[in-house]
Amino acid sequence: MPIYEYRCPRCEVYEIIRVMGKAPAEDACPTCGQPARRKISAPHVSRTGTAVFQLIESTERSASEPRVVSGSLPSTGKGAAPIYSSNPLHRKLPRP
Ligand SMILES: [Zn+2]
Repeated sequence: MPIYEYRCPRCEVYEIIRVMGKAPAEDACPTCGQPARRKISAPHVSRTGTAVFQLIESTERSASEPRVVSGSLPSTGKGAAPIYSSNPLHRKLPRP
């Protein structure tokens, strides 16, 4: 059920849970009994599906439960060692 907000002229804004469409435009304030008008407010839309929420959630989760890598590391597809020098004489040097 949605939450409706009412603004009392004497007190503060208070909230009432009512069946959708059954909330009157005016309601008696539970504190002072004055007629309080219903307030138009933005709905509280859930952010659980957004990319920002997913990023925050995965960051918080990886802080306490790091993702474990199983199996071998991904290979580059080449069996040869990477070339660090362009000088061809360096290839003839002994390797460990
Ligand atoms: Zn009041």
